Order: sequence, then C-alpha cells, then structure tokens
Amino acid sequence: MKLTFYGAAKEVTGSKHLVDLAGSRILLDCGLFQGRRQETQERNQHVGFDPRTIDAVVVSHAHLDHVGWLPLLVKGGYSGAIYGTSATRDLAELILLDAAHIQVQDADYMNRHQYAEAPLHEPLYRPEDIPAVIKLWQPLTHAFLDPAWHRLTPTVECRLYDAGHILGSAAIVLRGREAGQEKVLVFTGDLGRHGAPLLRDPDPIDVPAQTLIMEATYGDRRHHPVESVKAQLVAVVRHAFAQGGKVVVPAFSLGRTQELVYLLHQLTDHGDIPRLPIFVDSPLSERITSVFEAHQRDYDKQTGLDFSRLGEDPLVFRNLTYVHSVEESKALNTLQGPAMILSASGMVTAGRIIHHLVNTIGSPKNTVLFTGYQAAHTLGRKLLSGAKTLDAYGQHIPVRAAATQLAGRDSRSHSNVPGLRKKRPAGRPFLLFADAVPICRGSSPWRP
Ligand SMILES: [Zn+2]
Repeated sequence: MKLTFYGAAKEVTGSKHLVDLAGSRILLDCGLFQGRRQETQERNQHVGFDPRTIDAVVVSHAHLDHVGWLPLLVKGGYSGAIYGTSATRDLAELILLDAAHIQVQDADYMNRHQYAEAPLHEPLYRPEDIPAVIKLWQPLTHAFLDPAWHRLTPTVECRLYDAGHILGSAAIVLRGREAGQEKVLVFTGDLGRHGAPLLRDPDPIDVPAQTLIMEATYGDRRHHPVESVKAQLVAVVRHAFAQGGKVVVPAFSLGRTQELVYLLHQLTDHGDIPRLPIFVDSPLSERITSVFEAHQRDYDKQTGLDFSRLGEDPLVFRNLTYVHSVEESKALNTLQGPAMILSASGMVTAGRIIHHLVNTIGSPKNTVLFTGYQAAHTLGRKLLSGAKTLDAYGQHIPVRAAATQLAGRDSRSHSNVPGLRKKRPAGRPFLLFADAVPICRGSSPWRP
C-alpha cells in the first residue's frame, strides 16, 4: 500500500488522499482547497496528479473541502465511479452548484474591476459542470444498514461507517490483498461528536486495520457536551430578549444551521427560551434542509423521541421562518423587537449575513453569535478577535454589539456577553495517522 497526500495534511482544507492498494488507485475525498484568492486558484489548478490514472473515488461527506474538487477531476478526464452515501450525493450536488455560482460571480467581479488588457479570470468550474459529476455517483449504504463489502475495483473493497459529522457522512474502510496478505486502511474523514442533534453517533469501526488516517482539526481539545451548548444558547437568547435586541448568527448552511434549528425548536418547546421570531435567511440552507427531510432514516433515535413520535418535523416550528427572496431578506432590516437571524456564510466571507451584520452591529442591544471555525483573514475572525469596526459595503461601522462563540468549536473566542467564557486557547490543526509521521502535500509517498 502506498499513500500520497494532496491536501488536508498539516492544514485543514483540500482533503485528497491517494491510495495505491493491490494494483488499484483509489482517491479518498476530492476536496477544494480554500484560502486566499491567489493561493486558492493556484493550488486548485495544479493539483499534482493525473485524474485519468485513478480507478475509483470514495468521498466521506459533502463539505466543500471534501467534494469541491470533483468537477475538476471530471473535467480532467476522470470517468470512473464516485462512491459515497446517497445523502452525501444529494448534499454534494447543492454544495457544488453553490460553489460554482460563487466562482462565476467572483470571476465576473474580478473581470469588471481590472484593466482591459489584463487576462480574463475564469471560474474553476461552472454550474453546467455539476451534472456530469452527479451522473458518476454510485450510492453506497452505511454498514449499520448493510454490512456487506462493496467492490470498488477487481482488487479493492470498501465499507462505510457512519461518522456522525454531517448528514450522510462516513468513515471509509478499504480492503485489498497484497503479496498474499490482507491490507486494511481506515480513513475517518471528519468525525462527529457523540450526542449531536439529529445525527447518529459515530459508529465504532469493527475491522482490524493496519493503517489509520484520521482528521484532527479539533484533535487538541475536548468538545463541550451538547448540554453546555444549549445552556449557552439559552443565555445568549435570553440576554438579547431582555435587551429587546437581535441575535445574528453566521451559520454554515450545511450541518450547523440544521443543528441549531433543532436545538432552538427544542428549547422553545420546553419554554427555556421565549418564543421569539427566528429566521433562517439563506436559500442554500433551506434547500439543504429539504435534503435532510428526504433522508430521515439517517437521523438518530433521539430525534424520533424528541419530535417524530409527536408527529413533528424537527426542522419546522411555529415561530421559525425560512426566508426566500432578497426582498424578504431586506425586510428584516426594519424588523422591530427581539429576533434571531441565522444566515450564511458561517465565516462572514459572503452572502446575506453581511447586510444583517451591517444593520445590527452598531447597537449594544444586539449579539453576534458565531457557531464554527473562523479562518484567518475572514471578517468572522476579525469580529471574534475584537475588531472595533466592521468594514463592509465601503462603510466603517463601529462594533457595539456583543460578539461571542458557541462553545466547543473554534480556536479563539472573544466574548463580551455577561456570564460567558472570555477566552479559549488557540488550536493547532494537524494530521495524525498511524505512526504520526508528518506528511506534506504531494509529498513522496508514505508506505505503511
Ligand atoms: Zn466536514
């Protein structure tokens, strides 16, 4: 077996791991590198391997840093199967279309704002490139539903275990024979927490393996239990309600938004928070929520106990509104009284969240609640680090709203909401695997 890492090694983005096993070449994950514009273009254009040499691709889950390079793989000549769960396929389709739209808009913007003689910017891919990717998809089921091994190539088989990270997520186990010996590799993908809303807990992997590739973005800290996240949500919402203020939540459309909606539904029903108007203002979040509803068999048992047995949908409740049009979104600017607005993007790099922040951040009655990792150089990171002004739409708006972060997620937290923790230590993303040898992108192959 030979492993070569083309991303997500000593960094947290662009997951692509090439496995040469039993004469087959298997690509585990096919993620987009995400970072600053120049580096992003460069690293996504020159990836370091030939897509035509790959026999099969297996993807762990639908986050862009795990599927976002698939259109380039297919454009580069890959015509084999793409394996992953059916939920991952349905989510990946939405995520890739959204990424393609953003790239087209971005390239248009750049072309309009440069000298006429400069070379034109081209998007990495366009919405019309996505159907060719989805056509290659061969859905596989998790081992808890079907423990059979799935044949990827004449020499390599695979099994997927629920990773509990987002809907459809899977840890991937590969098996093949080399020199009369069975070789087994486990790739965890991103691993979820126990007790997370909606999702099943990560399944134990019951196959002895010689090689383990493991994500470790949060490997150096303990996640807070869901109960403490709930307690923090209650504190933030009650504080804002008492002030007559708004809570604005930059939330990732896939995963975090649905988890939050679930918790808010539960807290409202139990009377832990007042029944204030809650808006999900992200068309992508709404489409993703529909995919969740189509894959309810992937939900955990607790969801059944909390909602389904009462005939309720966990992601729908009376005071929750999914906002569709731009006009409806703008109408929220004049909304009076306490309210909560969940919008994308989660790191405040684009999207409707920016106008909600512009509109609310100047008042000390309001709170900005971050829910996930904030990468360096993003507006989200700046606000969390205590920026005094928000610079957006050519304005410099003084930051007077409280900014805080839901526990158990990010490396740094700046909190000025009374009763919440002030700071948590900085984290170091890193990659761990069997013998903890650090491997860099496109490094000379590592042989277990
Ligand atoms: Zn992920």
